[in-house]
Amino acid sequence: MEEFELYIDRLKAGEYKEFSLKTSPELMQADDNEFSFNDDIHAQVSATIASDHLILNISIKTIVKNSCKICNDPISHDILIEQNHVPFLLTEAKGAIFSLRPYVREQIYLNIPKYSECGGKCPERAAIDKYLSNSDDPQED
Ligand SMILES: [Zn+2]
Repeated sequence: MEEFELYIDRLKAGEYKEFSLKTSPELMQADDNEFSFNDDIHAQVSATIASDHLILNISIKTIVKNSCKICNDPISHDILIEQNHVPFLLTEAKGAIFSLRPYVREQIYLNIPKYSECGGKCPERAAIDKYLSNSDDPQED
């Protein structure tokens, strides 16, 4: 069994099965270099079957890095995603194997902070704010 895949033929309706899954950060490879992933991606999954659906409770954990928009220092963001009762059509499975990879990848990208500063408030911001308010606000001066 490959990483981040579930054998759906081992699941039973009305009975949750737990899985601890881990995959390498290669899952997140992308062309843009704004974010980098160097840490394993962990998922805790509780899965069951309900008629023609696979139902998951899932928690996803990893770390994403980017740079401070003010001073360009590297920043780490802890990503923790919890989703309950997520339904997937069983017809999306390839035979008995259901891959969580596209879903996990999408969830991580959706939960990356879009903007960031080191420590939530970059020490160099004061200097830049001064500059910005002078140019943006015509009422000053
Ligand atoms: Zn900074």
